Amino acid sequence: MCVFCKIAKGEIPCHKIYEDEEFLAILDINPVVKGHTLVIPKKHVEWVWDMQNYPALMERVKTLALVLRKAFNTPWVAEGIAGIDVPHAHVHLLPRQVDDGLGAFPHKLQEPKPTDEDLKSMADKIKQNI
Ligand SMILES: [Zn+2]
Repeated sequence: MCVFCKIAKGEIPCHKIYEDEEFLAILDINPVVKGHTLVIPKKHVEWVWDMQNYPALMERVKTLALVLRKAFNTPWVAEGIAGIDVPHAHVHLLPRQVDDGLGAFPHKLQEPKPTDEDLKSMADKIKQNI
């Protein structure tokens, strides 16, 4: 059983912020910023894209983001779905402050920079799958 399933079943302690029948919001034990929160479906599914009720997850994410805005007195709450740590669907919420040291949105530009033609063929490739 994965670590988030154990947390959802109460087998591992957590700092719970919110809970309902389907979802849980907890503090990340390795926070990137103060108030770093994870919104997690209780039922195990590896990828958020495979969830039956993804819109319900996003409703909880928005509710929690608004709560974090108030709690940390900031309009800026970053949302992240990275798929790089625990293989159980979850959404990161980071209440940001201008001086929190995390900097601007993290990014690494693709090099070499794609040409207009590259971007056109990339858009075509994606659109073929709609
Ligand atoms: Zn799990």
